[in-house]
Amino acid sequence: MAGEPQDDCLFCKIVAGEIPATVVRETDTTLAFRDINPQAPTHVLVIPKAHHADAATLAAEAPELAADVLRETRAVAEEEKLDSYRTIFNTGSGAGQTVFHAHAHVLGGRGLQWPPG
Ligand code: IMP
Repeated sequence: MAGEPQDDCLFCKIVAGEIPATVVRETDTTLAFRDINPQAPTHVLVIPKAHHADAATLAAEAPELAADVLRETRAVAEEEKLDSYRTIFNTGSGAGQTVFHAHAHVLGGRGLQWPPG
């Protein structure tokens, strides 16, 4: 069922406290933690605690929760004192999605090129 924890999901395990993470923010519905393989001085992942496979699915299945995640990306940027930052939702393996639990990457603290690779 949409939103239920998945046994084989890495980020559900982080939400459950079964895998450690460096948490920077937590709300009732979201968790923000540092990416294990940072691509910028600030690289934080913001996830819904409930399991949804990707950002588009999240927006379709739980639009309020998608809004919570977006609000938290800004809160992270403010806490990290980022004037500029990039929010990325990789969607599908061809776009680089490797964890199929919706997550926003918040990247900042260095110059970011456009277009991205
Ligand atoms: P994706 O490639 O857009 O799906 O992003 C998944 C991200 O999760 C990657 O940037 C990984 O470095 C990150 N990641 C994988 N395992 C962990 C972990 O255990 N803790 C924190 N970040 C992780």
